[in-house]
Amino acid sequence: MTMHRLISILTILTVTFLLTSALASCSGTAAPDILTTSTILADVTRNVVGERLSVGSLLPIGTDPHSYQPTPQDTAQISESKVLVINGADYEHFLEPLLANVDGERTLIEASTGLRLRSDAENGNASDPHLWLDPNNMIGYVENIRDGLEQFDPASAEMYRTNTRTYITHLEELDAWINQQIAQIPPERRLLVTNHEAFGYFAERYGFTVVGTVIESFSSDASPSAQQMAALVDQIKLYEAPAIFLDASDNPSLARQIAAETGVKVVTDLHLESLTEGAPAATYIEMMKYNVTKIIEALQ
Ligand SMILES: [Zn+2]
Repeated sequence: MTMHRLISILTILTVTFLLTSALASCSGTAAPDILTTSTILADVTRNVVGERLSVGSLLPIGTDPHSYQPTPQDTAQISESKVLVINGADYEHFLEPLLANVDGERTLIEASTGLRLRSDAENGNASDPHLWLDPNNMIGYVENIRDGLEQFDPASAEMYRTNTRTYITHLEELDAWINQQIAQIPPERRLLVTNHEAFGYFAERYGFTVVGTVIESFSSDASPSAQQMAALVDQIKLYEAPAIFLDASDNPSLARQIAAETGVKVVTDLHLESLTEGAPAATYIEMMKYNVTKIIEALQ
């Protein structure tokens, strides 16, 4: 056989292999072992499991879990999963009807279990699900995920513990980094106006005041009255808040109306509910650093 012919055969084999792998990944049969509801939870769970099991997010990148409309494929994906990791604290409203229809059994890990919840007495004691925006709460999440995985797969418990310890070190470094960055802003300028009430835990941890929100709810899935909009304009003027911060998936039209009346900036590209494909928020830690950098830029 000539060298040329050998190379041709190898090329054909490689192309066949690539096609087969491509088909396998398109058919959707390779469901992940561990399914998480959000891309943020998928990233932190990967840090706990390492290469031991596959991890995937039910919601695609860029999707807002508050207003997510499930598809029939979601039921199939949950049915095939062995472990399901959810945020809990009333975050995943789409999940309840889905769970009523799934087959099989799986380990359910609620990442926010046991953490202190902020709640809103004026809003029927609704709880604030955005615990992850404080890295100290994220430490609680990964400990819960580790405990759930240890029960699911006791043979790998030692590895899950080692991975979790390493990742918690990174989360502690993140918290220290955020504190250092925030120190650049004088306390009287640490003012946040946001789309919905997402920054409560972050504000408590890093000494910010939440001056107001366009939507007075822990969910983006609501709309304000004209009266609420007028009250927010007054609050912004009273505090001289410099900016309104929105998630990239938020509709900016109401924030722009308020900005037109108050002269504040609108930052439209924070990432609070989902990671991004590649930069700037490919991982939870990158997402937090990106958001903090954006906030500091706007408040300085
Ligand atoms: Zn939210």
